[in-house]
Amino acid sequence: MVSVDHTVWATPDRETAPDDVVDRLLWQDARDILGRHARPSRDGGCGGCGGAWPCHSRRVAEHALAASRRSWREGWTARHDLNSVRRLLSTN
Ligand SMILES: [Zn+2]
Repeated sequence: MVSVDHTVWATPDRETAPDDVVDRLLWQDARDILGRHARPSRDGGCGGCGGAWPCHSRRVAEHALAASRRSWREGWTARHDLNSVRRLLSTN
């Protein structure tokens, strides 16, 4: 049997996930993306990427944050969506 440790340790830049979070790594990744797309800029677009507020990255991260507290099936699909956003952000 394979066991995966998803423990996310708190560091100065990272928070510890609340106890009700099932997928701590998904929760942390969602929080990272939410932090980069935290608020609209003065022109009304996302302050992180300039997309229409709330931008696609933020909406996917909000979904992933909620999914991190649900069953592994929802977390798995949210992880896939979040990775797609991260891949998009790294190419821009
Ligand atoms: Zn954005």
